[in-house]
Amino acid sequence: MTLAALALAPGFALGSFLNVVAARVPLRRSIVSPGSACMACGHELSWYENVPLLSYAVLRGRCRSCGARIGLRYPAVELVAGLLVAGSVWKFGFHLEALVASFFCLALVAVSATDLEHRIIPNRIVVPAAAIVLVAQTALNPSPEWAAAAFGASGFLLLAALVYPAGMGMGDVKLALLLGAMLGRTVPVAILLGMVAALVPAVVLFARHGSAARKMGIPLGPFLALGAVVALFAGHPLLHLYLHR
Ligand SMILES: [Zn+2]
Repeated sequence: MTLAALALAPGFALGSFLNVVAARVPLRRSIVSPGSACMACGHELSWYENVPLLSYAVLRGRCRSCGARIGLRYPAVELVAGLLVAGSVWKFGFHLEALVASFFCLALVAVSATDLEHRIIPNRIVVPAAAIVLVAQTALNPSPEWAAAAFGASGFLLLAALVYPAGMGMGDVKLALLLGAMLGRTVPVAILLGMVAALVPAVVLFARHGSAARKMGIPLGPFLALGAVVALFAGHPLLHLYLHR
C-alpha cells in the first residue's frame, strides 16, 4: 500500500508526459523538443507551471502568458495516469508485472486522450506498445496465450469492422492487439465491457438527436480502454463468475 502511494507521484509525472504525447503525436511533432509549451501561444512552461495537477489548480486552468484555457483533459490525464500506475503497483507488487501493467495503462491513457481529441488511435503509439507488451508478457510468463489473445481479439474486431464499418475503425482493431497481449484469456471481458459501455453514450445521443446521431459516431477506443482496465484488475474473478454461474 505504501509502495503504491509512492508510485503516485511518478505516475502523475508520466501522465504529464502523456499529455505532450497526446497533443503532439497526431500532429507528427516531436515529443522531446521543445519542452512543454502552451498549445495556443507557444509560451514555454517553467518548472512551476508544469507540476502535474498542482499547476493546473494554481493557474486556474489558464496559460500564464496568453490566458488561453487549458483543457480539463490535462489534469484528468495526469490524475488517471497516477492512479493507474499506483493501482498496478498495488495489484502486482514490486515486480516486473507491475512495470508491464503500468506501461499498458499509460498506453491506454495516451490512446484514449488522442481518440477523444483527434478521433484517431495513432499507429505510432498503439503498434509499438502492443509489440512491447507482447514480448514482455511472453518473456515473463512463457505461453502462447498472449499472442493467441492478441491476434484473436484483433481478428474479432476486424470481423466486426468489416460487418459494421461505421461502428469501429482499424485503430480499434490494432488497439485490440494491445489488449490481448496484456490480458491473455481475460481479453473477452475487456472487449465485452468496452462495447457495452460504449452503448450508453450511443443510446443517449440517439435519444437526443434521433437518426442524426448515427453520423456523430462515438470513439470506441476510450471504452475499450476502460474495459481493459477493469479486466486488468478484476478480469480473472469476472471470468470465473461468468464461467461458473
Ligand atoms: Zn499561452
